[in-house]
Amino acid sequence: GGALPVPEGDKIIEPANKYIEKFVEKELPIFATRDWHTENHISFKKNGGLWPEHCIQNTEGAQFPSELKLPPETFIINKGDRPEIDAYSGFQGTLLNDLLKERGIKRIFIGGLATDYCVLHTVLGGLNLGYTVFLLLDAIKGITPQSEQNAIQKMLKKGAIGITLKD
Ligand code: ZN
Repeated sequence: GGALPVPEGDKIIEPANKYIEKFVEKELPIFATRDWHTENHISFKKNGGLWPEHCIQNTEGAQFPSELKLPPETFIINKGDRPEIDAYSGFQGTLLNDLLKERGIKRIFIGGLATDYCVLHTVLGGLNLGYTVFLLLDAIKGITPQSEQNAIQKMLKKGAIGITLKD
C-alpha cells in the first residue's frame, strides 16, 4: 500500500517474525536493512531513475512495518542514503560487512523485499564477500512471480542455500 509496493509483501511479516524469534532465542544478532533516501534521490523517476519516490528519510514510508517484531537491539542499516548513489544491496555503502566481521559472523540468513532487487543483490553481495548465505524462501516476495523465480534461480546457482521455517 505504499509508494513502491511489493504485491502481497505483507505476507512475509509472519514468517519473518518466526525467524526473528529463533534468532532472539539464541541471542544471535539481527540486522535490518532499509532504503533511506533523500528527497532528491537519483533512483526517483523525477531525477531520471526507475522508481517512484519512496523510503524518504524520516518519513512513514521509510519505517519498518509496525507488525514486524524487530527486537530493540536490532542493528538498523540504512542504504541509498546519499542523493547520488542508489543501493540495492545491504552491503553497498554501509557498515554491514564490518559489523558482521567484527562479530566473527560467517553465515547469514536473508529474507525481505523485494526478492528480485534488494534481496537478490544483498545475497549476491554476501556470497561475493565469502559468507555462507541462507535464503529464507518463505520470507521473501518479488515484484512479479516470474522475476522472483528468475532471481531465486540465480541466487541458488551462485551458491545461496534455500531454506524454509521447517528446516
Ligand atoms: Zn530505493
